[in-house]
Amino acid sequence: MNEADRAVAELVKRRFLLWRDVVQAGDFVRGSVVILRRPCVRKTCGRCASGEKHPATYLSIKVKGKTRLVYLPKAWVAQAKGWTAEWRRLEGLLGQMSLVNVELLRLLPKREAKRQRKERR
Ligand SMILES: [Zn+2]
Repeated sequence: MNEADRAVAELVKRRFLLWRDVVQAGDFVRGSVVILRRPCVRKTCGRCASGEKHPATYLSIKVKGKTRLVYLPKAWVAQAKGWTAEWRRLEGLLGQMSLVNVELLRLLPKREAKRQRKERR
């Protein structure tokens, strides 16, 4: 195996290992967990009057460029945080795979050209 073949084989192996991580990923959601202090509907509320308002946790997601908030009951906050973390991890893995494919697009045409030159000789 020459150097170019070895480099290509190494990249293909890396891409395979990344794919394995991707297919074994857990549940995920694209968004972030945020705490918002919103006023309530009562006309006289001490907490609202003091500016403290009512903090609650939401999943913030973007749908067609618009932010959507999904209320998270306390018992589900950790779950939602886990899912957003898994999304970021998956994004990282896909980003790495993309870079591997960039390298392959750079190397494969060169290797092909070299082979064709050899065949013509
Ligand atoms: Zn209030």
